[in-house]
Amino acid sequence: MKPKSLARQSLLQKRTQLSLQQVRLTSQQITQKLLQTIDFAQFSRIHLYTPLAGGNEVDTTMLQYELTIRYPELQVIMGSPRPQAAFPKGDFDAVFTPCVGFNRDGFRLGFGNGWYDRFLLGQPQALKIGLAYAWSKVDFAPEPHDIPLDMILTDG
Ligand code: ADP
Ligand code: MG
Repeated sequence: MKPKSLARQSLLQKRTQLSLQQVRLTSQQITQKLLQTIDFAQFSRIHLYTPLAGGNEVDTTMLQYELTIRYPELQVIMGSPRPQAAFPKGDFDAVFTPCVGFNRDGFRLGFGNGWYDRFLLGQPQALKIGLAYAWSKVDFAPEPHDIPLDMILTDG
C-alpha cells in the first residue's frame, strides 16, 4: 500500500504524459458510459467540475453539452477549477468529482487540498460520482476525513 502523497505524485506524473488525443478519447468514452448508465432525469440539480486547463483531467465539457440538450430541465452547475473556490450554495442531487486516482473501496485522491472532502461533507444527500482513468486505480489507505464516492466511472 502506498502513502497517499506518493501515489498522487506518480499518478500525476503519468497523467502529464497523456496526449490531448488520449484525454479526448477517454473523456468521450466516459461521457457515453455515463449517459447510458445514469438516468439524469431523476436529478434536478447537479454539480460538475470544470477541468483544469492543461491538467489532462477527464473532460466534462462534452457531458455538460449533452446534458443541456437531452435534459433541458436539469440545472447543471459547473464548479470553479480554483483550489480556493468557495463551496457552491444549495443542495445537489449528484456531485461529479475529478480523480487523480482511486482505490477499490471508492476513495479518491485529489490534488491534496481536500476541497471535495469538505464540500461533500455538506452534501450527504448527493450521489457522489468520480470520473477517472482506469489506469489510475491504486492501493492507498484513506484518512478519516476522506469521503468515499458512491460510484467511480472509468474507461475500463
Ligand atoms: P485530497 O482529498 O484532495 O486528495 P486529502 O484527503 O489529502 O486531499 O486532504 C488534504 C487536507 O485537507 C487534509 O490534510 C485535511 O487536513 C484537510 N481536510 C480534508 N477534509 C477536511 C475536513 N472535513 N475538515 C478539515 N480539514 C479537512
Ligand atoms: Mg481526500
